[in-house]
Amino acid sequence: MIGTIRKLSSLLSLLELTDSGLFCPPAGIFIDPWRPVERAVITHAHSDHSRWGMKHYLAHHHSAEVMKLRLGQEISLETVDYGQSLDFNGVKISLHPAGHIPGSSQIRLEYKGQVTVVSGDYKVENDGLSTPFEPVKCHEFVSECTFGLPIYKWETQAEIFNQVNSWWRKKRCRRAKFGSFCLFLRQSPTDSPKSGSKRGGGFCPWCCLEYQSGFACKWN
Ligand SMILES: [Zn+2]
Repeated sequence: MIGTIRKLSSLLSLLELTDSGLFCPPAGIFIDPWRPVERAVITHAHSDHSRWGMKHYLAHHHSAEVMKLRLGQEISLETVDYGQSLDFNGVKISLHPAGHIPGSSQIRLEYKGQVTVVSGDYKVENDGLSTPFEPVKCHEFVSECTFGLPIYKWETQAEIFNQVNSWWRKKRCRRAKFGSFCLFLRQSPTDSPKSGSKRGGGFCPWCCLEYQSGFACKWN
């Protein structure tokens, strides 16, 4: 995917690919940088997009708790709502729902009539938990969505959740310990803190955090 971005970078007027990641020179911001920089706009709280060491972070409100849990309570983090526009040296920056996890965002950059949208991971099917994906009109779209490549064919969420539930029920019956499905950053479909069931001796901290933040999915 980065190779694709590298090829695209020569065509994009608002972005450059640097050793630290995607950079918007007029705004002076990086998007999901992989090395410490002055100012980072973060698409979402997963560890391959939200990394340690940035001087200032900007992200959606719903990314805040997980980012602080992972990167430290003391990080300099400004949060915004979807659609709220900020001005960085004449570049309008706003975040729009990506539907991947709570807080996941597409980053819209507008400068002198040119609109570029950069997305991290995104999902177009509504999962009942994240704010659903919204298409954003733009001149250029950059996708860094790991499993968004056409080679991946996904079953429906209902089918996948049924498989997960049947798997963990079998494991629970055998008194086996197993790891949490942390990629979801939430409880699995029928395993909520309310239900009293536990995994591997304790709840996944990410799932508890999401649950305590008021995210309860429709699969409970
Ligand atoms: Zn992700």
